[in-house]
Amino acid sequence: KVYADYAATTNVAPEVVSEITEVLSDHFGNASSIHHIGRDGRRILDQSRMKIAKILNASPREIVFTSGATESNNLAIKGVAYQNQHKGKHLITSSIEHHSVLHVFEQLEKEGYEVTYLPVDAQGFVTVDTLKDALRKDTILVSIMFGNNEVGTVQSVDEIAELLDDHQAVFHTDGVQTIGHMPIDLKSLKVDLFTLTAHKFYGPKGVGLLYVKDKTPLQFQQLGGAQEIKRRAGTENIAYISGMAKALELATDNIEQSSLKLIHLKQHFINALQSYDIPFELNGDMNTSLPHITNLYFPFSDVEKMLTILDMNGVFVSSGSACTAGSIEPSHVLTAMFGEHPRTKQSIRFSFSHQMTEEDIDYIALQIKKIYEMNRNE
Ligand code: PLP
Repeated sequence: KVYADYAATTNVAPEVVSEITEVLSDHFGNASSIHHIGRDGRRILDQSRMKIAKILNASPREIVFTSGATESNNLAIKGVAYQNQHKGKHLITSSIEHHSVLHVFEQLEKEGYEVTYLPVDAQGFVTVDTLKDALRKDTILVSIMFGNNEVGTVQSVDEIAELLDDHQAVFHTDGVQTIGHMPIDLKSLKVDLFTLTAHKFYGPKGVGLLYVKDKTPLQFQQLGGAQEIKRRAGTENIAYISGMAKALELATDNIEQSSLKLIHLKQHFINALQSYDIPFELNGDMNTSLPHITNLYFPFSDVEKMLTILDMNGVFVSSGSACTAGSIEPSHVLTAMFGEHPRTKQSIRFSFSHQMTEEDIDYIALQIKKIYEMNRNE
C-alpha cells in the first residue's frame, strides 16, 4: 500500500507523538491557573512559543496559536477587513487560494467589501504587475498564498511584500504548504500575517498558528478569556502546541535532505510514466514548484474511476484539493490556470514524502500503467 497524499495530511512523526503524550500525561495544567501545576503548563506553552518564534525568525509575542490554517486564514482576513474598514473596503486575493481563504472573501463581498481575484498564468503564477494594476488607494488587504496546495506553484512573496512596502494594505500569505520544503524567515520575508498548520509537516491535526507582525491592525475574532494576550480566547492545547513546535523543528532541520529526496522521487515518477508510454501532462512548473507536489493530467481516463481503481490497489491519492474531492467538480485552481478544459476534471495530485522509496513510486506508476492498458482495451 502506498499513501501519496501528503499535501492533504501527513502521519505524525514518532518524536512528535512522544512529545505530545509526555505533555498530556505529565504537564496537564491549565496555563491560566496561577498555582504550581498551571505554571508548569504555562512553562511548556512559553517554551513552545519561543522555539517556534526562533525557527521562523519572529518574536514570541507575534505568534498566535489557533486550531489550524482555516482558523488562521479566517482570523487574518476578517481581522484586517473589519479593523481597517475605515481606511477602505477593497481587498485583493488570487483565484487559486484554498477555500479557507476564498470562502471568507466571498462572505466579505456579501458584507459590502469589494474583492479583486487576481488571475494566474498557465503555470499558476500571479504576476506582480497584475497586482500593481489592481492596487488602489482604498485597498486594505492583499492575501496571496505562498505555495499552492494543488499544483505546488510558489509565488514571489518577497516581491509582493516589496511592492506593498509603501502601501497601506496589510499583506497576508497562507504558507501552509511551504513548511518543511522552504526555509521560512518571517523578518526577511516582510509579510504582516503568515498562516501555518501542524498536520502538513508531521504534526497533529487541529493546531496551527497565525504570525501577526507587531502593530498589524487586526480585530480578534474569538472572544472569551484572556489567552494569547487577549487575541484568541480558549484554553490552549498545550500538548499539541508543543507537538507542533517539535514537528517544526524536525521539518526545518530536514529541509535540504528532504527536498533533494523529493525532487529525486518526482523525477523518478515522471521517468517511470514516460518509460511506460503513458500519456500525461504536468500541471505547474517542474523546476520551481514545491518538491512534494506532482499534479498530472491524464487524458485517457475518467479521474473518479482512476482514483477508485488506485484505491482498490492500495494507492491513496487525491484529485485537486481534498475538500472538493468526492464531488467531481472541476478544480478551481486548474480552471484559473487553463480555463474550461478537460484537465480541470482529469488531473490527479500526487504528493510525496521524504519517507517514501523508489519502490513506492514504481508501484504507483505500475498501477497507472495497468489502468491505461485497461482503457486502451475497452
Ligand atoms: N491552506 C492550505 C494551502 C491548505 O493546503 C490547507 C489544508 O487543507 C488549509 C489551508 C487548511 O488547513 P487546516 O486543515 O489546518 O484548516
